[in-house]
Amino acid sequence: MEINSIRKKTREIIIGSKKIGAGNPILVQSMTKNKFKQIDLLKEEIKELINSGCEVIRIALTDKSSINYIRSLVKEGFFSDTPLVADVQFDFELALLALEAGAHCVRINPGNIGGLEKTAMIIKKAKETGACIRIGVNSGSVDKKYLKKYDNDYLRAMIESTLEYVRFFENMEFYNFKISAKASSVMDTIYAYRTLSEKINYPLHLGVTEAGSKFSGSIKSAVGLGILLNEGIGDTLRVSLTDSSVDEVKAGYCILNSLGLRQFGVNIISCPACGRTRVDLKTITQEIERITGKMTKPLKIAIMGCIVNGPGEAREADIGIAFSIKKAAIFVKGKILRSVDVKDIVTEFKHELEKLM
Ligand code: SF4
Repeated sequence: MEINSIRKKTREIIIGSKKIGAGNPILVQSMTKNKFKQIDLLKEEIKELINSGCEVIRIALTDKSSINYIRSLVKEGFFSDTPLVADVQFDFELALLALEAGAHCVRINPGNIGGLEKTAMIIKKAKETGACIRIGVNSGSVDKKYLKKYDNDYLRAMIESTLEYVRFFENMEFYNFKISAKASSVMDTIYAYRTLSEKINYPLHLGVTEAGSKFSGSIKSAVGLGILLNEGIGDTLRVSLTDSSVDEVKAGYCILNSLGLRQFGVNIISCPACGRTRVDLKTITQEIERITGKMTKPLKIAIMGCIVNGPGEAREADIGIAFSIKKAAIFVKGKILRSVDVKDIVTEFKHELEKLM
């Protein structure tokens, strides 16, 4: 089934040079890990994120010293094609300054930024600068007032507070906003987003918060986000990992590619290897993954350990390898190109890939 056809048509919003919602491509986001004090490392990280296909970059602002850095990064053109979201907690003035410095969006939780009065000032500033706002209420940062009201049922408090913030934004006639309601529990995340999607029509930024390491975080995110996306819910996403921000982007695309919602970068189909395998398939696959890791053009690569399923899968791919005992057959667009010695396969693969690209 074509998932794109059941995607919910949310309201379109603008963030810098990009559009979110209303059936636009689901954007992959990430958040930087380096500090402003390590500005060269931060710049390098931003460049790597952009090269890896990150479409929206979020940066945490910790204090007012961050603002000069933000202003310089914007001036230097880092975010001309990849919008910047300034993540601000507690300090509404910092959100105002970030917008003045050129942030395309501020992520705030009205519940901890100083209440609706301060939120109104941020909305007014966003109207002036043309920025959007992300209302981001995480399971760990729900306003205590709502927790008390709903008897510490954090999920209900998270949903109800978000709905109230939405009404407040609407009352101020500000509609250029998206919403996130992430929980660290996958099932609670699914429940929160399903409920919000039923009740409101603004774009939803999906994520499972504090998802964990590269391994467990990717799996939790794939399960939670995959279920929601499969129901047509979600307009942007971030896979939160206790690992590199570039890996977050890779995981995000892997989820979207798997569901047929985007076609981005390399899709490696490699067999798990078994007693029939006569080559070091793991090392060869890792090497090919390393070579192709930065490619953004859609490409299907098959790496198969033996002749049982090998030729079949390899034929279906743009470029494929099927191993026998001492030889490896290279397939390009369904046709066997040639057979090479196993020891030469990585070099030969690279050669064919260059020709293909
Ligand atoms: S393709 Fe061949 S080597 Fe790979 S898992 Fe299947 S049977 Fe084993």
